[in-house]
Amino acid sequence: MEGIIQVLDNITINQIAAGEVIERPASVVKELVENAIDALATSVTVEIKDGGTSLIRITDNGSGIGREDIKKAFLRHATSKIRSAEDLQTVESLGFRGEALASIASIAMVEVITKQTGQLMGIRYEIRGEEEGEIEEVGVPDGTTFLVRNLFFNTPARKKFLKSNVTEAGYISDVVQHMAMAHPEVAFRFINNGKHMLNTSGNGSLKDVIYQIYGREIAANLIEVHFQDAGAGTSVDGYIGKPCVSRGNRNFENYFINGRFVRNKILNRGIEDGYKNFMMQHQYPFTALKFRIEPELIDVNVHPAKLEVRFRNGDILYPFVMKGIEQALAGREFIVEVTAEEKKSPEPLKREISKSPEIFETHRRQTLPPVVREDSGFMRQNVTETSEVK
Ligand code: ADP
Ligand code: MG
Repeated sequence: MEGIIQVLDNITINQIAAGEVIERPASVVKELVENAIDALATSVTVEIKDGGTSLIRITDNGSGIGREDIKKAFLRHATSKIRSAEDLQTVESLGFRGEALASIASIAMVEVITKQTGQLMGIRYEIRGEEEGEIEEVGVPDGTTFLVRNLFFNTPARKKFLKSNVTEAGYISDVVQHMAMAHPEVAFRFINNGKHMLNTSGNGSLKDVIYQIYGREIAANLIEVHFQDAGAGTSVDGYIGKPCVSRGNRNFENYFINGRFVRNKILNRGIEDGYKNFMMQHQYPFTALKFRIEPELIDVNVHPAKLEVRFRNGDILYPFVMKGIEQALAGREFIVEVTAEEKKSPEPLKREISKSPEIFETHRRQTLPPVVREDSGFMRQNVTETSEVK
């Protein structure tokens, strides 16, 4: 007699995994942009229609995916970023669970067009649910474009949980902004329903990115900070806002750990307590702080969407951050930098920036990255910059 226990088929397994990894269109954008950055792109364009529900297009000028790897890339637990569980201790790439592409392809129609540096021709491949297309040869520039159409087309219950297109587009905008701040060396472009919403130059300056995202008022009232604790294997640099540019919520408390935007209560508390003597109650500061923490001291693998981190030295971090902020603020006179023009500056989201750098312009590297970087230093330290204009 047949028992009642069934082994789930692959597509069902992937859809269940997708439930964890891909909550909404912004999750797709986050995963694909992380992949582009891991592929050492210097230019990433994110284009969406209808809050990302009908179309998400992500184009990068990174390493590209080879013909022999393209189908494998969509298999669950298929990754080029780690080889064994031990690598998890030191991995510095943004994604390594090997789940994103499999998950996305199980709940959307996906097309990928990609060419590896040095190859003559690129390839085009389509996959939707369990239906895999043929690999076609195409003439395209170096890099990768992912097109994700009709997200949740086969999981209507999930689609029902989405908010309005405007709200979903806002979540995507947040993701792109965080990525742009975490990676000032990458030129980001964000296009929503045909409208250019954000352009960053990729010149490596965090301050420029802050200006491009938040506008003149915030950019004119920043304090540059650097502090470190060699013993705790931690250093911080970036910018904090003068108390005058405070907000009524925590939305402007940005911080990044080893290139990844995260949320963490210990860090929020450290930042806010550092501002305590300088700010009114229920006001929250602007920050854009880049933490460098030895990868062995953190665990970013706690949550499938990876917004949460776990620290191995959590109790050292709080006073470290609190004192660092406090010292940066202490003994300063806070003169608000205002200009007449600033008051006119429109909301950041609506700002249109005209001239954009052409994608595929530069290559951060001409060769493929190693599977796991050999140096145990911090992300991207050894990346050689070659700015060859094609
Ligand atoms: P992970 O990022 O965890 O390895 P993904 O499912 O996101 O898993 O991607 C699978 C693999 O596909 C990656 O390890 C990488 O080798 C390849 N890949 C995905 N996106 C890109 C891209 N934009 N450029 C180059 N390679 C990519
Ligand atoms: Mg990934």
